[in-house]
Amino acid sequence: MTQTIAHQACCADEESHALTVSQAIDKIKIAIPVIQATEKLALRSSLGRVLAQEITSPIQVPAYTNSAMDGYALHSRELTDKTLKTLKIVGTSWAGRPLDQVVQATECARIMTGAMLPAGTDTVIMQEHVEATTEAMKFNAAEHQAGQNVRLAGEDLQIGQTVLRPGRVIQPPDLGLLASLGVGEVKVKRRLRVAFFSSGDELCSIGEILQPGQIYDSNRYSLYGMLARLGIDIIDMGVIPDVPEQLRQALLEASDSADVLITSGGVSVGDADYIKDILQEVGEVNFWRIAMKPGHPVTFGKIKNTTFFGLPGNPVSLMVTFYQIVQPALCQMQGQLDDPTQFRVIKARCVSKLKKKKGRAEFQRGILAQDETGEWTVRSSGDQGSHILRSMSESNCFIWLNAEQSRVEIGEWVAVQPFAGLM
Ligand code: AMP
Ligand code: MG
Repeated sequence: MTQTIAHQACCADEESHALTVSQAIDKIKIAIPVIQATEKLALRSSLGRVLAQEITSPIQVPAYTNSAMDGYALHSRELTDKTLKTLKIVGTSWAGRPLDQVVQATECARIMTGAMLPAGTDTVIMQEHVEATTEAMKFNAAEHQAGQNVRLAGEDLQIGQTVLRPGRVIQPPDLGLLASLGVGEVKVKRRLRVAFFSSGDELCSIGEILQPGQIYDSNRYSLYGMLARLGIDIIDMGVIPDVPEQLRQALLEASDSADVLITSGGVSVGDADYIKDILQEVGEVNFWRIAMKPGHPVTFGKIKNTTFFGLPGNPVSLMVTFYQIVQPALCQMQGQLDDPTQFRVIKARCVSKLKKKKGRAEFQRGILAQDETGEWTVRSSGDQGSHILRSMSESNCFIWLNAEQSRVEIGEWVAVQPFAGLM
């Protein structure tokens, strides 16, 4: 009886001392270092990496004034009298093979898309708008404007103009953009090294035979997937049993080689939950509770220069706390200008009733879809138990309910974080 009362007191105390999600994120933001080391990479290898230099254009783009259409190049003075006109065709300017001839009055040149405008021309008429033979072409000058269908040298980029800023995560169009400038090598931040292990006496690795009371370790696989997507250097430390000495060793070992250590399990208040106390012994605990569901127990701190995140063992809690708490931190440590995942929140009409208690943020799993009118709707993916990993797999978004919110009725608007972009 005495014990039950003691437990209740402890749990009420825990809720009131937990940080809000944004307080936790703010505390992390100011505590973590940003990687300083850089490396030079060949352009293609830089995809997904964080740019560590400002890229300015070494050339003007377009490099020369050229045609946006297949047609005929002429001088705009031929348009001034706005009547039907016939011009003599003096040659052809091909893409890559400019016409080496000055086009004079009453003359024009055949021109292809991307070809350099010949000297003496400043305007292109599309071939669909003329009547042409091999020698001459006829057009209505009243229907055309001076300078049309022409891409001016330098209209996209001037020499020295900033193209990409440090902190940019290099995307597919950036590779093309850099290639268009002749840039073959870029300086990027070195990859972040993240070590992780699962803790728990009940955990069995794939390939071993499950004994009574054992489960397969799934967290190391979800963690691997989430980290691999961020382009991180991964150090998988395996499964560590709930044995304080072995956990202590593992924490110290990771702190020798990793920028970040992420653990799963053993951060709650059960009798085999040692992580927080051991972190306190070998490093520093910054905080260990966040008012969120799933994922209430999250331990954040450091061991020497290694940043530490102790995530809960329940498979859904692990994934939710990773995406909401750890991923923004890893983006910052990698030197990313901003964390792109933080902006991808949309409003959708909820078509399920959602249970929710005030006082903590909840990240429920949902299925986002457009209805027949084009409006975004979201429904619950069903049982929200933090052990039901299937709910993550079948969902395509988090329904993000803030701490002040209580239950949601059918038809209410809710904030939704689509997995596309987050994962
Ligand atoms: P814990 O956070 O250690 O209290 O674990 C909470 C729940 O998550 C328990 O049911 C554990 O068996 C389960 N769990 C812990 N670690 C893992 C893991 N690596 N893979 C799958 N389930 C886990
Ligand atoms: Mg455990």
